[in-house]
Amino acid sequence: MTHWMNTDKTYVANTYARFPVELVSGKGSLLTDAEGKSYIDMGSGIAVNGFGVADDAWIQAVTEQLGKLPHASNLYYTEPCALLAQLLCERTGMKKVFFGNSGAEANECAIKAARKYSAEAKGPDCYTIVTLKNSFHGRTLATLSATGQDHYHELYQPLVPGFESIEKGDLDALKAIDREKGVAGILIECVQGEGGVVPLEADFVHALADYAHENGIPLMVDEVQTGNGRSGALYSYMTYGIQPDIVSTAKGLGGGLPIGACLLGERVQNALGPGDHGSTFGGNPAACAGALSIMRRMDDALLEGVRQRSAYIFEALTGAPGVESVSGLGLMIGIKTVKPAREVVSKCIENGVLCLTAKDRVRLLPALNIPMDQLKQAVETIKAACAE
Ligand SMILES: *Cc1c(COP(=O)(O)O)cnc(C)c1O
Repeated sequence: MTHWMNTDKTYVANTYARFPVELVSGKGSLLTDAEGKSYIDMGSGIAVNGFGVADDAWIQAVTEQLGKLPHASNLYYTEPCALLAQLLCERTGMKKVFFGNSGAEANECAIKAARKYSAEAKGPDCYTIVTLKNSFHGRTLATLSATGQDHYHELYQPLVPGFESIEKGDLDALKAIDREKGVAGILIECVQGEGGVVPLEADFVHALADYAHENGIPLMVDEVQTGNGRSGALYSYMTYGIQPDIVSTAKGLGGGLPIGACLLGERVQNALGPGDHGSTFGGNPAACAGALSIMRRMDDALLEGVRQRSAYIFEALTGAPGVESVSGLGLMIGIKTVKPAREVVSKCIENGVLCLTAKDRVRLLPALNIPMDQLKQAVETIKAACAE
């Protein structure tokens, strides 16, 4: 137990079951702890450090902006905010962007936009947002209410009303809710990340998208974890070939600084007007400058590299001793292990590899550009930990 681990345990709220590692520095996909031990990073700060830690181009973009204008407030225009919104719209076909600081905030905006759009289009009684069982949409009360996992809800009652979660594949349940009280929006993750890295069936996603379009219901895709190259496409909905009305994203967008974005498509672009929503730090110039440096480098070559690394991990781990199954998309991978996932992760830490868990699985979210030799070494360590 290091000094700062003790201090943290004393003074920081007990909301995280931290692993016994105090990180002090890093470069790319290598991290160093307080005792000088180095690790290969297979979690990238939970899908945040897309280009690894302390990426040079990102540091330059952020520090340049910090020296010019680190914060301004949303009463004024700034270039990084405008430029990032333009880039996001040009690359997705969406029309407008609201900036916040986290995934939960991006989803809050999505929910508010869908509710307001549907209240105006169908009347104030149309407020129900339909989500999926086993989903995860954040920790604020509304996004918690949207999250389709009961264990997150215990002891936070009453939740925000107007959310219903249906089983994956159960289009009839959606139709029944729509008949009974109307649906103001459908919110999905194409790959359920916290839910165990579970990709949705393409047929079901298409059926949801068709139903949403035919019935004037905003389709919202939560790309907080799957987005910004993580899935092997810029956004995972692109792999599924659907066009959402609203896309929320965060995590990897900022490359290491807090930023969230809610992208509004043609139909809902004007749902929110002046005064309808806001965030003091939203569109912060330094965060946007960092995100711009990330987004500008999300090209075909990078995404192809993500898919290649993904294929390598799937091939190396599928059928390996102690591995029951491998799921996921791109560099978002879940490993169902014979041993408890947390035990495998602890063993990996001992052997210099940092992995995550999601439900009963070991979860891998390495940097999108992790060097192949480091990836191979990490996969060998994980394989050994599963096999023991
Ligand atoms: C992490 C995550 C969130 C919440 O993001 P925060 O930045 O922690 O608020 C929401 N949705 C999904 C799919 C996530 O993975």
